[in-house]
Amino acid sequence: MPKKPKSKSAVKSGRATNRSSSDRVVYPFTAIVGQEEMKLALLLSVIDPHIGGVIIMGHRGTGKSTAVRSLADLLPPIKKVKGCFFGCDPDRANELCQDCKQKFSHDDRVATERGAVPVVELPLGATEDRVCGTLDIERALVEGVKAFEPGLLARANRGFLYIDEVNLLDDHLVDVLLDAAASGRNVVEREGISVSHPSRFVLVGSGNPEEGELRPQLLDRFGLYTQITTITDLDQRVEIVEKRERFDDDPVAFQSALTSDQDQLRRRITRGKKLLPRVETDRALLMQIAELCVSLNVDGHRGELTIARAARALAAFEGRTKATVDDARRVAVMSLRHRLRRDPLETVDSGARIEQALGEIIPKRATTMTTGRLAAIR
Ligand SMILES: [Zn+2]
Repeated sequence: MPKKPKSKSAVKSGRATNRSSSDRVVYPFTAIVGQEEMKLALLLSVIDPHIGGVIIMGHRGTGKSTAVRSLADLLPPIKKVKGCFFGCDPDRANELCQDCKQKFSHDDRVATERGAVPVVELPLGATEDRVCGTLDIERALVEGVKAFEPGLLARANRGFLYIDEVNLLDDHLVDVLLDAAASGRNVVEREGISVSHPSRFVLVGSGNPEEGELRPQLLDRFGLYTQITTITDLDQRVEIVEKRERFDDDPVAFQSALTSDQDQLRRRITRGKKLLPRVETDRALLMQIAELCVSLNVDGHRGELTIARAARALAAFEGRTKATVDDARRVAVMSLRHRLRRDPLETVDSGARIEQALGEIIPKRATTMTTGRLAAIR
């Protein structure tokens, strides 16, 4: 598998891509044509960040990075402890950083502010120090001062960490990122001194399948895997060009024409997040999901856990309090395709095997997988 660094990502230097840090007008999420599976996967991860991140694989020029930046621009602002580098959530006492913990122990009226959800881009050439932060042991020991310089994992707390060309990133670093994303904390240890801080984020990786896949062990730890294809429908292709030209001509006008679509989607996200804890999944559905995973020989339990979570997130996003068979069907392919056993030379399944098993275990309704209810994402 090639592991060559690319300058394209390196120049981005881990900058945040949301509104607070850039005056650049971002292409609106609701103007993205097609690619329903990718859009759905990203939105479900916003509704339930515990789904475990998203991989977006597709050829160059299919709008993967645009989609992630558009998502950042769409997210409703969140409440943060004012001045905290990690953007701690004042309502979650057990997820505070050391400074915030101290603040709260001395004062029960700590100042808060509303801010953008961070979406941090990880440059491909980034070192582990840059990602995790650095601990200056000499200063810590000699001067007794706090000598921790936070890294990108600190900035990504409560947001998204985006890696373009994730398949070219060093396996070890992907491991570190997945560990932090799963545990919600970043721990930096050096010579017996240990520093930790909250680092709860959704990992989004994108890549070009022609440049190689991630190792299966790493793939399995991502929640959803979506494939982007070059659109062949002529009307949609023309629509892409037209919209892009209108955006390039006058980004501000283009964006303001879509304000109500964007606001509507933002409201649905907010409502979906609120509704999520109340969404139920009945046992019969869990049985069907398990049966599906067994029939596909999926190792471990991440497959069914992901389908169940994603189905609940989908129900919440659509304003319902019960996950249905149809929800499970619509998220099954993106939850499982990277977990199927395959020969080393085989590529990740397009979904055909899963569709077939779905047809046998979860009887098909009127809509087809993920492509059903396209309007749902607007
Ligand atoms: Zn804090």
